[in-house]
Amino acid sequence: MKVACFSTKSYDRQSFDRALTDSRHSFGYFEVKLDLHTVSLAEGHQAICSFVNDHIDEAVMKKLDNLGIKLIALRCAGYNQIDLKAAAAHGIKVVRVPAYSPEAVAEHAFALILTLSRKTHKAYNRVRENNFSLEGLTGVNIHGKTIGVIGTGAIGRAFCRIANGFGCKIVAYDVIENEEMKQMGVTYLPLAEVLASSHIISLHCPLTPETHHLINAKSIALMRDGVALINTSRGALIETKAVIKALKNKKIGYLGIDVYEQEENIFFKNLSEEIMQDEQIARLMTFPNVLVTGHQAFLTKEALEQISKTTLENITAFEKGEELANEVKAS
Ligand code: NAD
Repeated sequence: MKVACFSTKSYDRQSFDRALTDSRHSFGYFEVKLDLHTVSLAEGHQAICSFVNDHIDEAVMKKLDNLGIKLIALRCAGYNQIDLKAAAAHGIKVVRVPAYSPEAVAEHAFALILTLSRKTHKAYNRVRENNFSLEGLTGVNIHGKTIGVIGTGAIGRAFCRIANGFGCKIVAYDVIENEEMKQMGVTYLPLAEVLASSHIISLHCPLTPETHHLINAKSIALMRDGVALINTSRGALIETKAVIKALKNKKIGYLGIDVYEQEENIFFKNLSEEIMQDEQIARLMTFPNVLVTGHQAFLTKEALEQISKTTLENITAFEKGEELANEVKAS
């Protein structure tokens, strides 16, 4: 099949080109995001391949339908950016890569925790200027702390296994409890109790209408003073305004985020020569106890290989009229 690949970065192209060598499919790569202005680039293709910030709403879906696109192959796990009802109405199938490397994201979440709890982001800059003073670098142990995990799906479970290795007490909230986790010693509690008892809270649930702004002024008030908050899931799980307030009054001890509510117009771009227009991210950058990464938790060699492999398998299954194991549908 001829596939139009949107939001393409060099690393996407490299891993797909490697996977395409003995494949029946061909990819047309476009650096631009998929939206109403760029959708016409899909002309002449039968499927599109898109990523987390390609918002495919009813209007884009209609255009895709008019262009004869019958398949949207997401090269990511989350699908909150797709209007699935519109996809069904236009007869367009949507497939995703459900679990390319849960460990990649879970390890990144832990990298944020380790950096912030031991202040290695500050130490890195200091020693480069021959400043070997330890003043202000006192950290906290992770061993023995209570870690709260919201969402124990593939990534949440990988995260729990790491936390277990660190000797943490793990409490979790999920709408579906997992037996393997229980056997490992994870205690499932109501959300409010997880928030109240945790030293570190890590978010691993999807963004849905129920989880939108899960972390807000009310839920923050339930947390321990000095709580650490980590989000590698989706930006809008957190109400940024409320978190900034809690950082200012020291309710939140540190914040590590790989995703941001308004990331769409910021992340995946080099804006180093521009004036930052987003006041909230600009404010977040001023805190010494905040670490922001630009949606890179998935970005490992192993994950990219798995993403291209599964995406091509999804496209082949569609072309052959086989059952789509990784299809996502409107609920
Ligand atoms: P998954 O589907 O395996 O797990 C999600 C879990 O969340 C499930 O156990 C589900 O029951 C639970 N859940 C659903 N609604 C909930 C609610 N209201 N409260 C609590 N738990 C709820 O997904 P996954 O592969 O573990 O990925 C989790 C999220 O991570 C994805 O939705 C995606 O947004 C994000 N993600 C981020 C990156 C990144 O690079 N930063 C990469 C991949 C995925």
